[in-house]
Amino acid sequence: MKPLRPIPSVDSLLNLPTISGLQQDYGHAWIVSAVREVLDEIRSQVSSGETIPTEEEIIQRVTNLLKTQSTATLQSVINATGVVLHTNLGRAPLCRSALDAIAQTSLGFSTLEYDLSRGQRGKRDIHAADLLTRLTGAEAALVVNNNAGAVMLALAALANRKKVAISRSQLVEIGGGFRIPEVMRLSGAKLLEIGTTNRTHLADYENAIQEGAQLVLLAHQSNFKIVGFTSTPSLPEITALAHRYDLPVVYDLGSGALIDPETLGLEPDLTVQASLRHGADLVCFSGDKLLGGPQAGIIVGKTKLIEKIRGHAFYRSLRADKLCLAALSATLLEYLKGMAAETVPVIAMLSRKEADLRAQAGRWRSELQAGQVIAGESAIGGGSLPGQTLPTWLLALNPKSARKFNQRLRRFETPIIARIENDQVLLDPRTVLPDQETVLLANLKIAFSEE
Ligand SMILES: *Cc1c(COP(=O)(O)O)cnc(C)c1O
Repeated sequence: MKPLRPIPSVDSLLNLPTISGLQQDYGHAWIVSAVREVLDEIRSQVSSGETIPTEEEIIQRVTNLLKTQSTATLQSVINATGVVLHTNLGRAPLCRSALDAIAQTSLGFSTLEYDLSRGQRGKRDIHAADLLTRLTGAEAALVVNNNAGAVMLALAALANRKKVAISRSQLVEIGGGFRIPEVMRLSGAKLLEIGTTNRTHLADYENAIQEGAQLVLLAHQSNFKIVGFTSTPSLPEITALAHRYDLPVVYDLGSGALIDPETLGLEPDLTVQASLRHGADLVCFSGDKLLGGPQAGIIVGKTKLIEKIRGHAFYRSLRADKLCLAALSATLLEYLKGMAAETVPVIAMLSRKEADLRAQAGRWRSELQAGQVIAGESAIGGGSLPGQTLPTWLLALNPKSARKFNQRLRRFETPIIARIENDQVLLDPRTVLPDQETVLLANLKIAFSEE
C-alpha cells in the first residue's frame, strides 16, 4: 500500500526555512508563484496516478524552477568555433575601454543631448561623429542603430520616388531577410537594375542615368562571390561618371574595415577611407563587423547629404542609443591611438600568429592529455568576407560521440560552442578570449570525466 501523504499547502512550504531562505535571491512574490506552479504540477500528476513527492523533492523542484526562471536567456558563451564574426554569437566582442565607457556614462546621467559649454540642449549625433570624420577623412558622419537601417534611411532621405541604379550582381540578400531590392522598395526608391549577374559595364551605368536614375547605389557582395567571366567598373570610374551628371554615389560597404584586410592576411578590400577617396559620396557600414565595435549603422560622407538624412523623419526611429555611442566612441579611440590590433578583440583575433595559435592548442592538449593538434582554418564569418579563412591550429578531440560531447559542452554555466568535423570536436584558440581559457579547460576536463 502506498503511504498516504497529503499534498503540502502553499503556506506550510513557505514557512520551511529552506524556502524562506530563498527570499534574498528571489523575493517573496516570486517564490509564492513558483511554489504554486510546482504544487499545481504535482496535483495534476497525482490525479493521473503518480505518487506525491516527498517534501525534499518538492523543495528541490521549487529551487530548480526559480533557478531556471532567473537564468537570463542572453548568456555569455565561449566561442571555440574560430568564426571571428559569428552573427549567432553576437558578432564582435567589445574592447575593454568600450565596456568602461558604457559603465561610466550609463550608470548615471550623461551629456547625451546636453551641451556643457552653453548649458543647454545639445546634439546626440556629435558624439562619435568627430572621431569618425577624423579616422575616415569624411566631411560628416551619422550613427544609427544598424547598417540595414543606415542603407534604408539613406535611400529614404535621398531617393524617395526617385530611380536608383544598381548592378544585378549586387542585388544581395545578407541574411536575416535583408534583401537589397526589398530595402530599396521599402525606402520608396525605384529600383533600376542594370547589367547582368556576372557582368556590368560603365555603359550600363551611363544608360541608367540617361533613363533618369538620380542616385547610384553600390552594395558589397559581402557573403558570396561571383567568379569566372565577370566584369565590373572600378569605383573611381563609377563615381567619375555619376559626378559628371551630378548624381550621388552611395556605397553599402557592409563590413566596413578601417584597416585594410590585406594587412591582416586576408584578401585586399576597400577600406572606408579608400571608398571615400575613390569618390563615394556616402559610405554605410556596420559597427559590429570588421570594425569590432557595438551594433551600429555608420554613415560617412558629404555634409550636404548627411544633413538631409539627419533631417528625415526615419532618423528618429533609427538613431543610436547612448550605450552604442559610448562603446563606439571608445572603440574608435583605440583606432585613433593606433592600438586596435592589441585592444579591439576582432582585430586582435585576426592578427594572431600561427605559431602562437599552435603553441596554445599544444598547451591545451598537454593540460587535457587528450586529442591532437592539427592544422585548420578559421572563418571570418558575419557576412563579412565571402569564404575567407585564415590558417589556424586546432585541438581535435575524439570523444565517444562528438554530438553528445558538444551537447555537454553547451550545458555549462558558460556554455562552450565548438565545431564538429569528421566526428571530431574541433576547438580553435583564435576566438577564445584570454580570460575564458581557464574555465574552458576546467570544463573540458569535466566533460571528459563524464564520458
Ligand atoms: C551586413 C550587411 C548589412 C547589414 O548590416 P547590419 O549591421 O547587420 O544591419 C547590409 N549590407 C551589407 C552589404 C552587409 O554586409
